[in-house]
Amino acid sequence: MAFNLLRSASAERCKCGRIFTRSAYAIAKRDYRCGACKEDPAKHRARQAIYRKTPEAKARHRKLMRAIRLTEAGRLESRARNVCNKAIVAGKLQREPCARCGSATVHAHHTDYTRPLDVIWLCPLHHKEAHR
Ligand SMILES: [Zn+2]
Ligand SMILES: [Zn+2]
Ligand SMILES: [Zn+2]
Repeated sequence: MAFNLLRSASAERCKCGRIFTRSAYAIAKRDYRCGACKEDPAKHRARQAIYRKTPEAKARHRKLMRAIRLTEAGRLESRARNVCNKAIVAGKLQREPCARCGSATVHAHHTDYTRPLDVIWLCPLHHKEAHR
């Protein structure tokens, strides 16, 4: 994911909104959660949902998306996602259960961003795994 390249290595903001220092170990493991969130993933999801609605989080997200679009890989990726979303709305592409576990909550995963309609349906967990 292009987005990983844009993350700085030390001071991080957890998706719950807290600023924390990420250890070298956490960086190697690609773990972006603060200590509190690691201890209680359910609470983390709740805090994350609240934080995402704040103007600050929205501004951060927009800035990140803009930065991603400035990279070649990011441009391809967001174009692929756009084409894919339109195809879903138009009924040309149908969501399917996760290819690995059958979960109904799925993301469209692209193996090749130059083929936007060539997607694998994966749940958030298996999608994350696919990007390791
Ligand atoms: Zn957190
Ligand atoms: Zn799955
Ligand atoms: Zn993907």
